[in-house]
Parts: sequence; C-alpha cells; structure tokens
Amino acid sequence: MPGPAITRVSVMKIEIHHIPAQGLSLNAERPARHFAGLKELIDSSECVFVAPLSIQLEVRPERDFIRIKGRIDTTIRQACVRCLDKFERPLKTRFTLNYSKKIPQDVHQDDAEAVELTAAQIGMIFIKGEEIDLTDDLQEQVIMAIPYKPLCAEDCRGLCAHCGHDLNTGPCHCGEQRTEGPFAMLKNLNLPVKK
Ligand SMILES: [Zn+2]
Ligand SMILES: [Zn+2]
Repeated sequence: MPGPAITRVSVMKIEIHHIPAQGLSLNAERPARHFAGLKELIDSSECVFVAPLSIQLEVRPERDFIRIKGRIDTTIRQACVRCLDKFERPLKTRFTLNYSKKIPQDVHQDDAEAVELTAAQIGMIFIKGEEIDLTDDLQEQVIMAIPYKPLCAEDCRGLCAHCGHDLNTGPCHCGEQRTEGPFAMLKNLNLPVKK
C-alpha cells in the first residue's frame, strides 16, 4: 500500500527524495486555468471547465524509474459540432507516466533533445534534477481526453441546413414553405418526352 500523502509535496511537482520506498498517494483539486494549455482552451471558449480537475496520483518508485499512475476527473462544457448546443459531460482520463533520471545509453548527455527522444522511445520521460514537474504531462493527458469533435449525442440530428432549426426538437417546416423538393427544378426543364 502506498504511504500517506506528504503535505510538503506539491501535486504538480514531486521531489524525488520525498518519495518513500513503498510509494505515495496524492490527491488534489486544481482549477483548470492554472494550466497554461487549458487556460488557452478556456480563453478561446473551445472548452469550459465547470469543475476543477480532481487529480489522483499513485507514485511508485521502481528499480530505475518512477511510475506514476494517475486519474483526472472533471466536467467540461463544449458546443456540439452538429447542433451547436452547449452541453456538459464528465471528462475522465487514466494514464501511466514513467519518469527516469537515467540517461539512455549511447546518447550524449549534452544533447538534450536526443536524450528526451531516446527516453520517449522506451516509454520514459527524462527528468533532470531532483524533482518531477508534472504540470505539462498532466495537462497533456487532459487535452488528449477532450473530444475533438464533440457531439451532444451520437445521433444528434443537427441543424436544418436551410433554416437553422434544431432538428433535435422536431422537424422544421421550411421545406413546406419552399414547396419545392430537390427535384422540383426538373419539372421546369421541359425535358423532351420520349415517344
Ligand atoms: Zn448536437
Ligand atoms: Zn428547415
């Protein structure tokens, strides 16, 4: 069982030497706007966070690396891409992040980009120094979980392309007023009738 949360450890940053051998459980709530990338989404009204991020992390030291299993829950509001209606839905994400201080072999340690890349290839996030800064990685998990083309419902009927009526609330009547269906113009073409 992971040990109790150490209050000195911030949830976004974890000092490595504060992680006990048996691991660590951390729970925190953070407003989404504290994350620069999420604030951008909020400011562009792409996504509204109607609840703070509820963050749970299980930090476990392994032999050569630190494994962090996380879950983030919140509620977001987005506009449906079909009917433009704003709707709320819970957002959940579950993930595992592995952090390593070890520089991958055969990589020159001064080449920061190569070190990061090689670490990523083996599923590791390379950490420099004595603490893990989780801010960017947690934010990335949330961003990846946000639907790119949100639908209020799988079978959302969207808006009438002619009158803009929300077809989820029932059929529109613009077709009746236009009297002509898509084939009406054919009637006026005076096509020669084959004899
Ligand atoms: Zn919709
Ligand atoms: Zn219509």
